[in-house]
Amino acid sequence: MKLSEIRNSCLKSEINLRHRVEYFLSEIEAKKNLNIFISVLGEQALAQADSLHKKINSGKNVGKLAGIIVGVKDILNLKGSRTTCGSGILSNYKSVYDATVIEKLRLEDAIFIGKLNMDEFSMGSSSETSFFGPVKNPLNPHYVPGGSSGGSAAAVAAELCDISLGTDTGGSIRQPASFTGVVGLKPTYGKVSRYGMIAFASSFDQIGPLARSVDDAAYMLEIIAGHDPKDSTSVNTPVDAYTKYLKRDIKKIRFGIANEFFSQGLDPAIREIIENQIDEIRKVGGIIKTIKLPSIKYAVAAYYIIANAEASSNLARFDGVRFGLRDKEAGTLSEMYRITRSGGFGEEVKRRIMLGTFALSTGFYDAYNKKAPKVRNIIMQDFNNAFKDVDIILSPTTPTLPFELCKNTDEPLTMYLNDVYTVPANLAGLCGISIPVRNIDGLPVGMQMIADYMREDLLIQCADVLEDIINYKRNTVDGR
Ligand code: GLN
Repeated sequence: MKLSEIRNSCLKSEINLRHRVEYFLSEIEAKKNLNIFISVLGEQALAQADSLHKKINSGKNVGKLAGIIVGVKDILNLKGSRTTCGSGILSNYKSVYDATVIEKLRLEDAIFIGKLNMDEFSMGSSSETSFFGPVKNPLNPHYVPGGSSGGSAAAVAAELCDISLGTDTGGSIRQPASFTGVVGLKPTYGKVSRYGMIAFASSFDQIGPLARSVDDAAYMLEIIAGHDPKDSTSVNTPVDAYTKYLKRDIKKIRFGIANEFFSQGLDPAIREIIENQIDEIRKVGGIIKTIKLPSIKYAVAAYYIIANAEASSNLARFDGVRFGLRDKEAGTLSEMYRITRSGGFGEEVKRRIMLGTFALSTGFYDAYNKKAPKVRNIIMQDFNNAFKDVDIILSPTTPTLPFELCKNTDEPLTMYLNDVYTVPANLAGLCGISIPVRNIDGLPVGMQMIADYMREDLLIQCADVLEDIINYKRNTVDGR
């Protein structure tokens, strides 16, 4: 059922809210081996269900998410819950306030079922860098679910919530959506408030939904989007009713195909699947055009310099003084910093802090930190030029299929290259979506669409039409 249908059934009391929550909790318990949740909010969820039940019975107006079970990436502050960011350093940290997105969901009567596992501080593409252990792909538990929002994607794929929130800095919503056969929408930078999200790379980070369908993702975007005075980078434009772009057609819409998105290690089987889709688009009246994005071959390099520089600065706040872990044995302040941070952060996070600090240091500033933003500007220019000729840019979401657990953990560069097709949209601040297309040997292939700045309307319109044509059937999921 669509989110709006579930809500209606709850309002008509066709669905018992308490039973619904109990059912999800028992499923979470049964699929515990997938390691999708860091914290299950059982009692709170049941209490929310009970108070919503009373609200419905008393005839009061209820929100758009009444009865909807939502999973939340553990990077978002949710008052009273533990918010760990998948890190040892925050393993005992309890949120004292709600992120703006959480506040918005609360107002709409969503039920929060738990906090979802993720790569530590969102750094990774496989959800294996978590302090709480790796997340397993519900379609095949020997494989990774992608990352860093791997828990958020897996929770939807394993049917442990109706919809979830993730964050995307370089692909962390779209790539795990692709790896688990669900829909992942990364809004335009500034569309959704980042207030209350723990920052990784502030000029890229963006919150968005992972959903069973484009319809659900559009429904959720409508709720979470909008200006927030608490986030100075949030954009003050009116929020569209995105669901009104559903059930249209794609006649005369121009789809751009760039060679650069079909090279750099693309699996030939994935290429074939996406090329077939391009034919389908033509058949229903879409226009296919070839475009050039010559500079996106530098995207991964620029991304890893800028993102790590921002991360090294953002993560300086975890010093043992203000949040989370603190070493109690140290004799001096600097010793306390050193022991807390060396013990609290994992390998990947330390690698990023060192790379970022290196790029920012005086001797290398010109070579790296001055140059990478220039490359970023050129990439933006490439996209600006492309969007003069086309409405949507279409590509595979990832160059490879989901890989086996542990396969790339000792190969950071191979891991980083998984983001080649997703990172460009983050550098340019554009919106993008991944929708599932087909499975190869039970492992899903995702297709990415990128639209211009603030053109979520077009993105949703096209993704919805293509989703209909593709008619992807998710495997019967059984993580037990
Ligand atoms: N995989 C990328 C990285 O490790 C992107 C992560 C993200 O989008 N949060 O930086």
